[in-house]
Amino acid sequence: MKVLKFGGSSIASSENINKVINIVKNSSAETNIAVVVSALGGITDVLLNAGALACKGDESYKNSFQIIENKHIDIIRELIPVNNQSGVLGQIKKMLNTLENTLEGVFLINELSAKTSDKIVSFGELFSSFIICEALKSNGLHSELKNSQELIVTDDNFSNAAVIFSKTNKNIENFFKQNSAKIVMLPGFVAKTEQGEVSTLGRGGSDYTAAIIASAVNASVLEIWTDVSGMYTANPKFVREAFPIKNISYQEAMELSHFGAKVLYPPTIQPVLKKEISICIKNTFEPEAEGTLISKKSSNENPIKGISHIENMALITLEGGGMIGIPGISKRLFGALSTEKISVSLITQASSEYSICFAINNSDSEKATEAINKEFEYEIKQNRIEPLVVEQNNAIIALVGDHMKSHQGISGKMFSTLGKNNVNIRAIAQGASEKNISAVISHKDIKKALNTLHSEFFENQTKQLNLFVVGVGNVGGKLLEQIKQQQQYLLENLKLQVRVIALTNSKKMLFNEDGINLDTWESQLPNGEPLNMEVFHQNVTDLNYRNSIFVDNTANESVSKLYANYLKESVAVVTCNKIACSSSYNNYLNLKYLAREYNAPFLFETNVGAGLPIIDTLKNLIASGDKVTKIQAVLSGSLNFIFNNFDAETSFSDVVNEAGVQGYTEPDPRIDLSGIDVMRKILILARESGTQLELSDIKNNSFLPQSSLDADSVSDFLETLKLEAEHFNKIQQNADANNCRLKFVAEFDNGTANVGLQKIPSDHPFYNLDGSDNIVLFFTERYPIQPLIIKGAGAGADVTASGLFADIIRIGNN
Ligand code: ADP
Ligand code: ASP
Ligand code: MG
Repeated sequence: MKVLKFGGSSIASSENINKVINIVKNSSAETNIAVVVSALGGITDVLLNAGALACKGDESYKNSFQIIENKHIDIIRELIPVNNQSGVLGQIKKMLNTLENTLEGVFLINELSAKTSDKIVSFGELFSSFIICEALKSNGLHSELKNSQELIVTDDNFSNAAVIFSKTNKNIENFFKQNSAKIVMLPGFVAKTEQGEVSTLGRGGSDYTAAIIASAVNASVLEIWTDVSGMYTANPKFVREAFPIKNISYQEAMELSHFGAKVLYPPTIQPVLKKEISICIKNTFEPEAEGTLISKKSSNENPIKGISHIENMALITLEGGGMIGIPGISKRLFGALSTEKISVSLITQASSEYSICFAINNSDSEKATEAINKEFEYEIKQNRIEPLVVEQNNAIIALVGDHMKSHQGISGKMFSTLGKNNVNIRAIAQGASEKNISAVISHKDIKKALNTLHSEFFENQTKQLNLFVVGVGNVGGKLLEQIKQQQQYLLENLKLQVRVIALTNSKKMLFNEDGINLDTWESQLPNGEPLNMEVFHQNVTDLNYRNSIFVDNTANESVSKLYANYLKESVAVVTCNKIACSSSYNNYLNLKYLAREYNAPFLFETNVGAGLPIIDTLKNLIASGDKVTKIQAVLSGSLNFIFNNFDAETSFSDVVNEAGVQGYTEPDPRIDLSGIDVMRKILILARESGTQLELSDIKNNSFLPQSSLDADSVSDFLETLKLEAEHFNKIQQNADANNCRLKFVAEFDNGTANVGLQKIPSDHPFYNLDGSDNIVLFFTERYPIQPLIIKGAGAGADVTASGLFADIIRIGNN
């Protein structure tokens, strides 16, 4: 004989119930079966809510009742052929009447005991088992309904009653001995006390009902049919990469379910374990999927079987000098909790015995505080024990595996992985059996912690990078194009999965938790939400993805001011925007400090020389102990383009216009021609070399005439370039006469920096600098005479985007 249990979601609609009927049909063709069902999906919650509302005197309990009534009647109409409907409807209406009367009673007397609540909530399973049994019959199956309340006997701990196995097992054995129906349908979750009062087995208890029956009848297997394809390596609703575990031992499954893997109600294992009956977890919506087999043996390919977590935990600490060396403190503490029926999920005690720390459900924390304060009233008054410290909104996360004990370094890896991702650990516990290592973390970190641990222990070490991209203009657009082109390569060769989670232009923002499709982002973005950088930040924080990267492709000051907020959330920042790094030294320093403190890289390679590896090289020189003595550089692709194309035949203003057309200058060419852009760049190099410098410390020897410097609009400025043609021609002729070329040079020497146009002789490395190229000469203690030279294309959207991309990959490879 087999026992099959179907959970709430498996029978949430008539469509789903038809799937169940098919599974039952196939199983019963092979052997006799017992079928245990939960209440229809969601009904238990509605019933409990109706009771609570009625007890408060809130008439809206009637709405809840209505929902329950409608749902069951609709399902009967959809499932049972018309000529059989009236009998079934009549029976259900009778039961609904009893439920309605009970609720009305609660409403009138404003009182709801655990006993009455059990009576109310038991209707969920009574309704569903009756309806599905009738539906099976309508499908020509030989099915008989048996109320489990007549079989399962419990104590009177209502809502979470303990089974009295001696009586229960006898009842079940007797019933099945005398019954020959192919299919016996039973409601899960419900039972009765020895006095005949309705009781229930705790939330999720239908699994337990099925296990009790399986054990009593010596079933060949217990099948738990649910909405996922087995017990997963982590809750699949939190970890997309989680996958079903094929084989798992009873102990491992018990630990996982105890620590929150809701797919199996923890007490379920005990009854079947004794008889060594396997449990098979199967998916009603994908019956052909293999599922998980829970049995005596565990496979040992991976010492870690799964990661589970429990939400809504409170961490309570009892401490004080008066606890040291005094026997019986823990006994009194946990005795007080046990009297209040408070279950403790995790305990740690310092070896000094100065403090004991434990985790319980948030909802029990008030009751626990009261009980403990009462128990230690005397010691607290005498200041020998400190008043209790209660921290709410925590979660427990646990790694589980039978074979962990024979592998070293697992806990080290667990904690360093969490630490690297800035997940703060509040308490740690490891059982002596080493079947689980658990830690208390903050509620907000659950998703991140689960995902990082999952990727560390289960995934092929593929690292996911989650990008939040601001600005999709020239540079941003190219960056997205490059990412799209390289996604597959990065995944296959560097094990990096690069996903763009959000995008913005100046008006709209677009989010997709699974990653935006880079083939269609351009058509999707106009339909996004209006841009709001506060909401954007909130979304990034709420998603709380590991390896989140904020990518700034703008030249916008207000965006540059947001970096600190992201770094503080451990979100890395990659930017081509120079404003932050060339703002006040204090701000620059603070961003670097936050990056270190929160373990969030802050990378801005493209601030100088676009995609050329200038800053990275400089960082490596410094990190390896070298000292920069002098920097000479041509850092403006725009000015280089302009002076390379300015000759006797062309006017200066025409060349500037042409540079604009070709995209070499900023929309406002004054930023380039005034030298401010180059000042920012040399400032950043000086700072990265270890010098404290402000923008105002940099001397700018401008080549512009006064009228151009005074122009207060772009068009006025361009006009002055025309009017002052003579001024520019003279500069050019003077250079020609000396066989020199004009280069706009930035220098940093001995702690000071300046920028300006220089006449470069033909034997100088700058002389042959083509097009919009950049060049940097680093003179250092190791390169005193022959400098370290970096030269190449230093402007343009493509190379800037590739520099940003390189920074992103740098974070991935870290
Ligand atoms: P049922 O209604 O069938 O009893 P439950 O909702 O009680 O179903 O349990 C199934 C759910 O358990 C899944 O939908 C999933 O969200 C959750 N769950 C939590 N942890 C795990 C895990 N490790 N493996 C599978 N499911 C899990
Ligand atoms: N219906 C009950 C609940 O929702 C029991 C179960 O589904 O297992 O908790
Ligand atoms: Mg369940």
